[in-house]
Amino acid sequence: MRRILFNLVIKPWIILAHKSYVNECKRHGKYCEYKGVYIISDPRYFADYDNYKSSVIAALQLIEKVSMVRFLRLARDIDFICNLALPGLNGLFVSVRKMCCVNFGIPSYRHDIGHLALLIIHEATHAHLISIGTRMKHARIEQICIREERRFFRMAFGHNPVVEKWFEERLQEPVLTSFALFKIFLKNKECFVERR
Ligand SMILES: [Zn+2]
Repeated sequence: MRRILFNLVIKPWIILAHKSYVNECKRHGKYCEYKGVYIISDPRYFADYDNYKSSVIAALQLIEKVSMVRFLRLARDIDFICNLALPGLNGLFVSVRKMCCVNFGIPSYRHDIGHLALLIIHEATHAHLISIGTRMKHARIEQICIREERRFFRMAFGHNPVVEKWFEERLQEPVLTSFALFKIFLKNKECFVERR
């Protein structure tokens, strides 16, 4: 039942809203490609686009430099990286459009390229697991994504006890249920309606 509702209502809605986004980004010149990944923005944050774009490119370049394998996988599994400020969420992967959303309003993503790269690695891991058809509980998938972030962090920056503790704490945290996520969407539905 949930799948039918998703395919008949939610999926077409996301596709329409997304196409509108992409057209609006192109029209305003807020659209750029980095090696097959399109960097777009929620039109509400167009004013911040240049700052956001250069941070995302720097984060992608960091991933590319640290792990070419991860970068190539990311470029295959993600078509768009979108600045989308959803209160309560750091990031999100929207599989129907192969879109990684990042909440660039969060100060640490704005000021720390490494932190932004970790978020992209996290969402790219979701993307990869979906692309290979993995069927696991959401909580298990979150653990895999956080562990992948940790592996990437160690490769990029080495061992850091403070960050290791942060990863450990996150691995213990409960994950958002699909219902909680849906409530966040409903609360912020103006992000998803078509605009001119
Ligand atoms: Zn996740």
